[in-house]
Amino acid sequence: MPLPYRAWVLVEGDSIVIDDAAMHKPCMTLALARCPHLNGQMGYVACLVSMEEIIADGVPLVQMIDFSYRASWDLRKVV
Ligand SMILES: [Zn+2]
Repeated sequence: MPLPYRAWVLVEGDSIVIDDAAMHKPCMTLALARCPHLNGQMGYVACLVSMEEIIADGVPLVQMIDFSYRASWDLRKVV
């Protein structure tokens, strides 16, 4: 299922996107409820973001051409 225009990421600190991936809302809810590594004690915050707000290895995600590797994601701003 493709992600909607805005999707959920887990953010550590001000801007580091955990696992460099976005999720649907139900998937984020499931992950937070079931994943022992995301049990709410790690200080991660779930944020609803758009692709324009993701910086992948220093480049806005919307401008990325090569998706063949996993870039490290950061938030341009925390929503
Ligand atoms: Zn999903």
